[in-house]
Amino acid sequence: MASDGATAALDPVARREAAVRAAVEQGLVGPDAPVLGLLDVDGVRATVRELREAFTTEGGGTVLHTFAVKAASLVPVLALLNEEGVGAEVASPGELELARAAGVPADRIVFDSPAKTVAELRDALAHGIAVNADNAQELERIDALVAEAGGQVVAPLGIRVNPQVGTGSIGAMSTATATSKFGVALRDEGAEQWVLDAFRARPWLTRLHTHTGSQGVPLELMAEGVRVVYELAEKINAQAGRQQIDTLDIGGGLPVNFASEEVTPSYAEYAELLRRTVPGLFDGRYALVTEFGRSLLAKQGLIAAHVEYTKTSGGRRIAVTHAGAQVATRTVFVPESWPLRVGAFDALGRPKTAPGLVQDVAGPCCFAGDLVARGRELPELASGDLVALYDTGAYYFSTHFHYNSLPRPAVAGYVVDDAGKVSFAQVRAAQTVAEVLAESGAGQATALTELRSER
Ligand SMILES: *Cc1c(COP(=O)(O)O)cnc(C)c1O
Repeated sequence: MASDGATAALDPVARREAAVRAAVEQGLVGPDAPVLGLLDVDGVRATVRELREAFTTEGGGTVLHTFAVKAASLVPVLALLNEEGVGAEVASPGELELARAAGVPADRIVFDSPAKTVAELRDALAHGIAVNADNAQELERIDALVAEAGGQVVAPLGIRVNPQVGTGSIGAMSTATATSKFGVALRDEGAEQWVLDAFRARPWLTRLHTHTGSQGVPLELMAEGVRVVYELAEKINAQAGRQQIDTLDIGGGLPVNFASEEVTPSYAEYAELLRRTVPGLFDGRYALVTEFGRSLLAKQGLIAAHVEYTKTSGGRRIAVTHAGAQVATRTVFVPESWPLRVGAFDALGRPKTAPGLVQDVAGPCCFAGDLVARGRELPELASGDLVALYDTGAYYFSTHFHYNSLPRPAVAGYVVDDAGKVSFAQVRAAQTVAEVLAESGAGQATALTELRSER
C-alpha cells in the first residue's frame, strides 16, 4: 500500500524555492491571490519513511502510526498519509468524517476527544474505531454501550492516563502536568489502583494511551511518561495473568525546530531514547500506536503572502503583508513560544539576497499586534514582494482565525522533477467572499430586525 516514494532529486530548500517561483508564475500567489499555503508532497513522503524506519519492533510487532488530524485537517493530506500507511487520530465528529472521506480504514483510526458524547462513542464502538476512555465517567458510558451491544466489543478499547511527569516550556502545550485536563491522573491518590481495578473488571479493555508532550516538552520527559505507562501495562498484565494489554498508544508530541532547516530532534533520536528508557516497549509483546502531528508536516509547508505596502512609522520599518493572525494565530498572539522563520522573495518569486535590514512583518488584521515577525533582519522588502512563513505545514493551514472575515487561503501541494519543473495539485481552494457571507448569516439578514416579542 505504501508507495516506495522515489527520492526527489532536489533538496527540500531547492524544491521549496522552485515551488514559490512557479506559484508566482502561475498566479497562485500574487496581487490577486494574496496568501497561499504550499506543501512539499515528496517531503511528506520522506518524513513518513523516517518515522516508519525509526519505530520498528523485534519480531515484527505491529506499529500503527496515526496522524493527529487537528494538525492539518485537509482530506487530500490525510489521503496522502493514508497511502503511506499512516492512519488518523481524530478528536471530533468532523475530524472523524475527514478521515473517513480520505479513505482511512476504521482499524487505522483512533478517537481521542476529551469530551466524547454518547452518540460519538456509539458510532466509534459500532465501527471498530479505537477509543481510549479519558476518565471514569466516560468509562461508565462505554460500559453501558458494551452492555447494549450484548458484550460484543469490536472496537479496541483502552484508558488514557496522564503520567504527571511535568511541564515543558509552553504551558498550554503540556499535557502531562500534575493538573492536566487529559486522562486519568495516575499519581493522584488511589488513581493507579482505580485503573488496575478497571482493567480487572473489564476483560475487553486492552489498551493504555498517553500523550505526554507537544511543542516545548523535553524528549526525556516524554520518554519518562511512556516508561510510566509501560510499567503500568506490565502490572495490569501481571494482575490478569495474561497479556490483557496488547497495545500501547504512546501519543505524539515530537517537538519541531522552528529556528533553522535542521530536523531536530529526529524520529530516530526519539525512538533511540525510548529504546534506552523503556527497552521492553520494542520487544514485540506490545503493538504500538503513535499519534504524531506537528513533526510529520511542519517542515513540509510554508505560507506565502503578498507584500501590499512597506512603510516606516516612528523610525520602525514595517512590511504590511496578507499573512497575519488569521493564518498564524499562535505566532501573533504568543510570539515568544511560536516564532517563525520568514523568507523574502521578489515579485517574480526569486529569493532576495540583499543584506539584511531590521524590519517588522505585519499581517492584514486590524489590530496593532498583528505581526508575524518583529525586528527581524531581512532583505529590504518592497511592495509587490512576497514573504514566506516557513515550517507552517502543521497547524497553520487548518487552524484559521476568522478575524476581519478574512478568508481561509488556498493550499496547494507540489512535486518537483529532476529538471526543476514544478507540478501543483490543489488541496483546498481559497474561501470565496460568497462563502464568507454564507457562514456569516447573510442568508438570514433580517432575522433580528423581524424578531419581536408577542404583545
Ligand atoms: C494534539 C495531539 C497529538 C499530536 O500532537 P503533536 O504535538 O502535533 O505531535 C497527538 N495525540 C493527542 C491526543 C493530541 O491531542
